[in-house]
Amino acid sequence: MSMIDVDKNWRLLIDGEWVEGGAGHYDIVDPHTTDVVGRAPEATVAQANDAAAAARAAFGAWKRLSAKQRCALIGRLGDEIEKRSPDWVATVQAETGATIATTETLQVGGPAVDRFRYYATPIDLDESLSPIPTPAGPLGPAGLLSAEVKRQPVGVVAAITPYNFPVTNVAGKIAPALAAGCTTVIKPAPQDPLGILLLGEAVEAAGLPPGVVNIVNGSGPDVGAALVDSTDVNMISFTGSSPIGAKIMANGGRTMKRLLMELGGKGAAIVTEDADLGTAAQSIATVWGFHAGQICTAPTRVIAHHAVYDQLIETLNTFSGFMKVGDPTDRSTIVGPVITEVHRDRVEQFIASGIDDGARLVCGGDRPDLPGYFIAPTLLADCTPDMHVVREEAFGPVIVVLRYQDDEEAVQLANNSDYGLYSYVFSADTKRAYHIAGQLESGCVGLNVIQPHMEAPFGGFKMSGVGRDRGKWGIEAYSELQSINWMA
Ligand code: NAD
Repeated sequence: MSMIDVDKNWRLLIDGEWVEGGAGHYDIVDPHTTDVVGRAPEATVAQANDAAAAARAAFGAWKRLSAKQRCALIGRLGDEIEKRSPDWVATVQAETGATIATTETLQVGGPAVDRFRYYATPIDLDESLSPIPTPAGPLGPAGLLSAEVKRQPVGVVAAITPYNFPVTNVAGKIAPALAAGCTTVIKPAPQDPLGILLLGEAVEAAGLPPGVVNIVNGSGPDVGAALVDSTDVNMISFTGSSPIGAKIMANGGRTMKRLLMELGGKGAAIVTEDADLGTAAQSIATVWGFHAGQICTAPTRVIAHHAVYDQLIETLNTFSGFMKVGDPTDRSTIVGPVITEVHRDRVEQFIASGIDDGARLVCGGDRPDLPGYFIAPTLLADCTPDMHVVREEAFGPVIVVLRYQDDEEAVQLANNSDYGLYSYVFSADTKRAYHIAGQLESGCVGLNVIQPHMEAPFGGFKMSGVGRDRGKWGIEAYSELQSINWMA
């Protein structure tokens, strides 16, 4: 693993130039060692507006390139990211606190490269409609009216992203946005923006024209808020918490922003009495400790049939014993730290509120005796639907368990949530699982499986968001429909 250059002069990328943060720098802290690992540039609101203006100026020429020309550059960007990823591991591991395995496989390289490779092949969603016989009338003579439905790029997209998978999340936004013909301004999460600035170096090396990808960063909300207000920005592609998403929707309404909102989750995992409990428990446990539970799609709300309830809890408890908490750079570690001290304290209060409300603490709940911001995998059983720990996301390694009697109650409990991002059904009877899935108010459902299909539409019902991306839906998300009508 390469070394971290703590003294590197990190700068913003605006209109193809690396510029100093107009408001100085702030410290980026490793959540494990609590050491400063870099000093991130702090943009001013004027620089956020400069970045939006640069993206606006670059839009016409980028849009006029053929899809093939744009895709060639997107493919080259994927190549540059792949080539550079090994050198990014140390920095991205340190700023995110992710375990080394998670960093190497999911934070840099693989998924980000895949996104650019996928959108390096043009996706044509334009279609012709069947002609309609049209009678003579006040607007013109009779004839056959034809129409073509074209996809036009939305324009300038501001990508405002969360801290958990910084590079991968940004790649999932800018790859389809660029393919659709949009130009972009990236506003990374304040906690770990360095990997995104490294991505900017790959953008430069790939030869994308100046202004097509800009990066502005800030420690507070001002830079993101300025992009939401900017009349140079047509669309906000946001991933983050539901309360901030709601604020952005309200503020973006003033300038009629197009919005893609990928927000919080409280994934239900229904485990039926005939389920393979080993598979169910292992699947749930895999995501329980993975990236210290800082995953929006995690099945954190287990809804277990009464006949297997005790056994499932016992099996999950056993799994927790194998989840080594500690130094994320040690390859035997499963659970690393959460992102900040503030977040660690918030998750601890969350667990305490569950116990106060009557949940039974099966394991975890205590603070590991380690430097850094660690939380032991925590299991709260005998939960009821009205508890705060059942209703809200922890964004930490905390699982709550509820008991059900029949499938109707399982569906009712699963849907009794403000969220609806990703839910799961574990059952030996796939017909039954499929039937249950169809009744869930959830954007995505996994049947006996945790891994998502990366080309399937992704997004949430209810407070989990608005809109979908991935696959061809990524192109849909970043384009406007235009109908061109003519008389044949
Ligand atoms: P957050 O909402 O605190 O911050 C997200 C981004 O919004 C950051 O870049 C932040 O600087 C910016 N921001 C804050 N206030 C703003 C404002 N007023 N205007 C514009 N931008 C503003 O989220 P987080 O703590 O970084 O991430 C965790 C959350 O993200 C969780 O709720 C998690 O479920 C969610 N998440 C969702 C998905 C998904 O795909 N649905 C994926 C990952 C994370």
